[in-house]
Amino acid sequence: MKQPKIQRQISLANFTTWKVGGPAEWFAEPNDVNDIKELISWSKEHNLSCQIIGAGSNLLINDTLLKGLTICTKKLQGAKIDVETGLIDAQGGEPIPVLARRAAKAGLHGLEWAVGIPGTIGGAAVMNAGAQGNCTANRLVSLTAISLSGGEPFELTNKELKFDYRQSLLQQEELMVLSVRFKLDPGHDRQELSRITTENLNHRLKTQPYNLPSCGSVFRNPEPQKAGKIIEKLGLKGIRIGGAEVSKTHANFIVNSGSASAIDISRLITLIQEKVEDSHGLLLQTEVKRLGFESIH
Ligand SMILES: Cc1cc2nc3c(=O)[nH]c(=O)nc-3n(C[C@H](O)[C@H](O)[C@H](O)COP(=O)(O)OP(=O)(O)OC[C@H]3O[C@@H](n4cnc5c(N)ncnc54)[C@H](O)[C@@H]3O)c2cc1C
Repeated sequence: MKQPKIQRQISLANFTTWKVGGPAEWFAEPNDVNDIKELISWSKEHNLSCQIIGAGSNLLINDTLLKGLTICTKKLQGAKIDVETGLIDAQGGEPIPVLARRAAKAGLHGLEWAVGIPGTIGGAAVMNAGAQGNCTANRLVSLTAISLSGGEPFELTNKELKFDYRQSLLQQEELMVLSVRFKLDPGHDRQELSRITTENLNHRLKTQPYNLPSCGSVFRNPEPQKAGKIIEKLGLKGIRIGGAEVSKTHANFIVNSGSASAIDISRLITLIQEKVEDSHGLLLQTEVKRLGFESIH
């Protein structure tokens, strides 16, 4: 079997939508499940930790060296779409907006809301990504995963994944999502679905700062309240630490104005949490995941 390419000291800033992050000690982009198995055995052999990144659109990676092997799923793309049944089998690294567009063009209803989420299918399953009252779990039937400790791929059903608001079992377990099976509603008007999908994207482009590097919403909404509204009412829009700024367009976004470090962003997150806690007695929890930091909120 051909050994997948493992690179040393690759800057992860190029693999996150915030455009921050230090170098990965070891880095690989597998092409298929055989590569993945090889990489997992290699990391075990060398006694290295193993972490997965998708599109890096929900990740704050520290500026320092990220120890162990980082596996990026970007090359694991593609999806089989059954127009008759509405069943889709998508690879873990398939971009969500690409799948949303393809589903609409095939007359499958159910993913029109997902077009503005710049992540991968694997990341969407882990995060139970959602928008406009919809979420990944609503359409996910099952997924195939592999343990980062080794072994063969296995299936997990929707029920087993314990989905909740931006939560899933995958956030606690050391697993890699290889592929996801969705069930959409077939037989819808293709043009109408494509129109709605484009409209959803345009709405987001108007109301969210897509022009600057960000990670989407930083904080989970403390339901029924919205984190963005709380932050906005405290007058925090536009405050900065280094190159990190609370977006003037949407207060639950922190944007990289050009020169932000992960530490700038992390400090701004803490500052917002402190201000919200002082004024509301509420600790905002981050939706964003951190890699390479000691403490995780
Ligand atoms: C402009 C913008 C808008 C956004 N809007 C939304 C929105 O409306 N709704 C929403 O829910 N999110 C939104 N997000 C956040 C983000 O896009 C989603 O959380 C997305 O699902 C993350 O996918 P990813 O591939 O980028 O995951 P990453 O950021 O790469 O990883 C996130 C977590 O998932 C894990 N992971 C990723 N892939 C795998 C895999 N294959 N197997 C196992 N673990 C994996 C990582 O280890 C990490 O813990 C937005 C982000 C941006 C930048």
